[in-house]
Amino acid sequence: MNRIALTHLRLLDGVTREAQDDVVLIIQGKRIAWIGPRDACSLHCSDRVYDLQGAYVLPGLWDMHSHLDFRLIPDSAGQPSLAESTLFAYRRALTCLDAGVTSLRVVGTQGGLDFALRDGINCGEYLGPRIFTAGPGLASTGGHGAIQGQGYDGPYEFRRAARDVVYQGADLVKVMVTGGIVGRHEAFDALQTMGDEVQAAVEVAHLWGRHVAGHIASAQAAVMCAELGMDTIEHGYALDRHALQVMKDHGVIYVPTLVVTDDPSYWSEVGLPDWAVTKVKQAAKSHRRAVETALEMGVPIALGSDLPTPFVNGTIGVVREMEALAKLGAAPRDLIVWATQTPALLFGLARDLGTLETGKLADLIAVPQDPYSAVRHLNDVRFVMKDGRVIRDILTNSAGSPLLAGYLEHERKERVEHGSRKDDSCL
Ligand SMILES: [Zn+2]
Repeated sequence: MNRIALTHLRLLDGVTREAQDDVVLIIQGKRIAWIGPRDACSLHCSDRVYDLQGAYVLPGLWDMHSHLDFRLIPDSAGQPSLAESTLFAYRRALTCLDAGVTSLRVVGTQGGLDFALRDGINCGEYLGPRIFTAGPGLASTGGHGAIQGQGYDGPYEFRRAARDVVYQGADLVKVMVTGGIVGRHEAFDALQTMGDEVQAAVEVAHLWGRHVAGHIASAQAAVMCAELGMDTIEHGYALDRHALQVMKDHGVIYVPTLVVTDDPSYWSEVGLPDWAVTKVKQAAKSHRRAVETALEMGVPIALGSDLPTPFVNGTIGVVREMEALAKLGAAPRDLIVWATQTPALLFGLARDLGTLETGKLADLIAVPQDPYSAVRHLNDVRFVMKDGRVIRDILTNSAGSPLLAGYLEHERKERVEHGSRKDDSCL
């Protein structure tokens, strides 16, 4: 089997605190076969060599809160068909991969398209990021995310719904617990799913070896869910110190999605209705306070964006999330751990993913400037490899053409040059 050699790089493996200079990585098949200093490395003449020109190489990023099919469309346009949503979702998955997000945790997508995409990518028929998906989120009747108000009522229905999504192939279970932003008649602190309902879903998920993510805005719901064994709490627009302490005590991972409220003007520009933009503004202050407190208390965090557009001013949601948290004082190295190692640990995949070590899967990215000095450097991903395949390469002079050259590259440039912030749906 031919090998790939990545040479002349600075390695941020996620294990050593400092960058290791002039390292060579040998990739054989999907995995890293060897890592070491250049002078200790013997290259074969059949090796395909990529000279990374001193770039910083780190593990591929995860976006821990994404929705492949979520887009803002005017009511007049009507609902897209499942076929249209599937094409849209696949394109979104590709743009994420191209930008360095090699793994996605999908927390609510309709119609089973996420299972089909994941399976098609996993078996090698389609190029794409690793997808771990919850399928449709479980909501109560009329609750946040319930499609046309259709949800579940009572512990028996939630138990059945959890079993059903696991049967369909869910890698985790998502439960919608309180109101949220895209819900016209609901408040953030409206508890929509009761304790016995959450408990039923959590029990089923854990018996089947799946973790549970909860859409939660209020402190009261976070306390209830942490005590019931929920594994990750998403958004937490109004978490207080007590709720964060209970979460920490129970080992709950907080996925703040701070970018949701960080810049309300973004939502106006991508077409969120005015009443929802008002809710974004309402949540902004308490959300920021919740995240500041979580950082100060050392609550475990994972990075997710929840943004419907992978490119925002030429970058991706998860890096924008990093930048928002960095403004509140989070250190670049921690932010990178929260987007690489923490997700791999949560999924029980730390043997294969999350850091760059011999024997692990070769999911990696390269940037010219040191992301440990500032996470904004992750906006400039020049090289992406997933499963040992070169996906993107605008860094080396290698003759081999990367897999996602062409169309996506052109589109990315257009977005940066024109400063476009429009959602994908308008293209
Ligand atoms: Zn979401």
